[in-house]
Amino acid sequence: MAKADKTMNEIVALCKRRGFIFQSSEIYGGINALWDMGPLGVEMKKNIKDFWWKSIVQMRPDVEGLDSSILMHPKIWEASGHIENFTDPLIECRNCHKRFRADDIKGKNCPNCGSDQLTEPRMFNLMFKTFIGPLESVENTIYLRPETAQGIYIDYQNVLMATRQKIPFGIAQIGKAFRNEISPGNFIFRSREFEQMEMQYFVHPDDANKWFEYWREMRWQWYIQLGIDEEKIHWHRHGENELAHYARNAYDIEFDFPFGRKELEGVHNRGDFDLSRHQQYSNKNLEYTDKITGEKFIPFIIETSGGVDRGMLAILSDAYTVEPEPKNPSKMRVVLKMHPRISPIKVGVFPLVKKDNMPKVASEIARELRKKFTVFYDEKDSIGRRYRRQDEAGTPFCVTVDGQTFDDDTVTIRERDTLVQVRVKIDEIAPMINKYIENWKKNKGISLS
Ligand code: ATP
Repeated sequence: MAKADKTMNEIVALCKRRGFIFQSSEIYGGINALWDMGPLGVEMKKNIKDFWWKSIVQMRPDVEGLDSSILMHPKIWEASGHIENFTDPLIECRNCHKRFRADDIKGKNCPNCGSDQLTEPRMFNLMFKTFIGPLESVENTIYLRPETAQGIYIDYQNVLMATRQKIPFGIAQIGKAFRNEISPGNFIFRSREFEQMEMQYFVHPDDANKWFEYWREMRWQWYIQLGIDEEKIHWHRHGENELAHYARNAYDIEFDFPFGRKELEGVHNRGDFDLSRHQQYSNKNLEYTDKITGEKFIPFIIETSGGVDRGMLAILSDAYTVEPEPKNPSKMRVVLKMHPRISPIKVGVFPLVKKDNMPKVASEIARELRKKFTVFYDEKDSIGRRYRRQDEAGTPFCVTVDGQTFDDDTVTIRERDTLVQVRVKIDEIAPMINKYIENWKKNKGISLS
């Protein structure tokens, strides 16, 4: 088996074993390209989303949050260009997943990547259809949204009025999106139901290039702060052939997954395409009026569009490490060296042994720490096995109560990446963890004392 396949198989097995990710509907034989987040997965995903929300919405006076509905007026998808594909036979490249109108392909190779892995031309649309109301008729057809962005465009004036923002300003949302992908795969990389974190920034047309560069930089830095190895992320600029119908300029942030370099997030200059189209299809004036100069114009939109699940898979594959145990190098330990900010469990709390009142004291420490962090209390098996279980879950700290605790109110804290152990007072555990999370650098360890 190729090394990349082996690594992916190991990551998928670990995700199931430890409760990060399960195949959907498994007891019925599973269903392709749909996944469930287990107890650790849901925490991890929530941490990614919270970190995004904090940096894009909470920390910025110029970006507002939104949660628009998944089912929307079907005309939105006509205006957006998503429905046009129903009437054109399309060919998808199984290698790069770009789609082309059948008549745009000359010869047998993909115009984007050159691969000969092309599907047959098909009338298809990526959108899932359903019906609104009791009648299953053409007029009642609606779609599960294939992206969260359109909800933002159609609410842009409401947000503007409610918040009294001025251009430039942004609207952000996190939510589910659905695509009936023809060739899904690579675990949660390409699923049929996934979550997006999208931000649309509304700007004056003259300033679009400046803001496009600004948001490229911001998004790059965000992935670094997320703890992703900078060597493994790359910019990919869309060539003429790749640019989506709405885009004037587009860059992807790509990540070196075990199965190759693939898109994590797109940063797009969408020009005035979206608001012009919605103005045309809704017959509503969507112009912005500058209160000072009186100038009226359709704002240009800079979009940052990332997948939560792809971000999660990037972190998992970046963090997945198999290395010799320092004290026993003939044995290997599996450890998820992810940023502690993203770790689903922040602290493991253990009594060294299950006697001498140690479980009672450890349980009390766990109860206190739970007010601030996600905590896992464990008293089963040897201490070494308990440490290894937490390594696999990516838990950055393990706190152990031992005999000395009764003498001087101290515990040991073991750090996941460097395996450094220090003794600290019980009431210093929480501040130390907070400080560590703020300053974490992969494999660097920091002084715990
Ligand atoms: P790809 O070329 O890989 O199909 P895309 O260019 O169609 O992606 P966008 O429409 O730009 O993707 O969507 C924005 C982001 O949403 C992507 O960068 C990705 O992180 C995420 N995303 C898109 N499709 C899927 C999917 N099927 N499963 C998981 N995440 C997805």
